[in-house]
Amino acid sequence: MRTHRIAAIPADGIGKEVIPAGLRVLAALAERSGDFKLEVTDFPWGSDYYRATGKMMAEDGLETLKGFDAIFFGAVGDQHLPDDITLWGLRLRICQGFDQYANIRPTRVLPGLTSPLRAVNPGDIDWVIVRENSEGEYAGHGGRAHRGHPEEVATETAIFTRAGVTRIMKTAFEIAASRPRKLLTVVTKSNAQKHGMVFWDEIAAEVASAYPTVRWEKELVDAMAARMVQKPASIDTVVATNLHADILSDLAGAVAGSLGVAPTANLDPSRKYPSMFEPIHGSAFDIAGKGVANPVATFWTAVMMLEHLGETAAAARLMTAVEQVCAAGIMTRDVGGTANTEAVTDAVCAAIRGANLG
Ligand code: NAD
Ligand code: MN
Repeated sequence: MRTHRIAAIPADGIGKEVIPAGLRVLAALAERSGDFKLEVTDFPWGSDYYRATGKMMAEDGLETLKGFDAIFFGAVGDQHLPDDITLWGLRLRICQGFDQYANIRPTRVLPGLTSPLRAVNPGDIDWVIVRENSEGEYAGHGGRAHRGHPEEVATETAIFTRAGVTRIMKTAFEIAASRPRKLLTVVTKSNAQKHGMVFWDEIAAEVASAYPTVRWEKELVDAMAARMVQKPASIDTVVATNLHADILSDLAGAVAGSLGVAPTANLDPSRKYPSMFEPIHGSAFDIAGKGVANPVATFWTAVMMLEHLGETAAAARLMTAVEQVCAAGIMTRDVGGTANTEAVTDAVCAAIRGANLG
């Protein structure tokens, strides 16, 4: 029997509702399969832990997490604490500490959901956005001078390293090569940003020569935003910088119908460190504690985690179960349904066990 060690970090707000829901469907999958088991350890880190200890996670937290095969993460964010403390103290500490340089965001319109785009047919939107997750515009380089004076200045310098750009390009070409259409769009702004972005284009061309089965093209980020709305079916796999992909992937989430269904993986493709899987959404103060959070983003996140762990049959079974439940209209309020978190989770567990949802 294969065993995978999972660190579960629900953290804050609806993270405490959707992660337990995700663990329930994972347990149902392991039971149904009989070939693998998940050894789950829960960590109480997050804003409540901060209030009790002054830290978002244990001092030796990264050391502890190193021993796990994957991290299943909820969301951080608390109404009474500054976002930079909660985000940098836990989520970014893990992403950066474990060099999770590839942020992968798949987008599809699930059955039963409606895209806000008027002219979208089922299947038109099937994208994977690959976001550089370790440098670029979010490298933290820059500073402030002349504070409080008329000549005050602030700089925010984007950092692009040959190693950093090459490795994210390789990841993107690998993903594109594994998909039916094998099309990769390399997004830049190399007309206006003539140093880092031209470098990015050059490295794309170098890496491309190792992937002859992939068709690739360049697109400027502003044109890409328009293309996502106007010609969504023309897009397959996309790679972009930390900032550009941050913005494009929120647009992708909106185009797919709801933040409540969008998953993401923060990968260390070298597998030196554990990778982290999380829904894209935050802690959702407005609905936390009410039991109405949409667990679908977390379930899809679990699909990505199972794929990463090599449990492809279980991953496919879970995705099918989620699609059946959405198609049957068993959905939460954010996507037009009336079910609560528990009812959606029950339905997905039943679908995993082979129940007919009618
Ligand atoms: P949010 O994603 O928490 O919520 C935005 C809106 O979407 C809210 O109306 C919320 O109710 C709704 N929503 C989100 N997820 C949902 C779900 N699963 N089901 C139903 N509705 C859902 O974003 P926000 O309000 O900007 O941020 C709240 C807190 O979360 C902030 O502290 C922010 O910093 C943090 N945050 C954390 C992460 C993360 O941990 N990765 C991501 C985004 C925001
Ligand atoms: Mn973002």
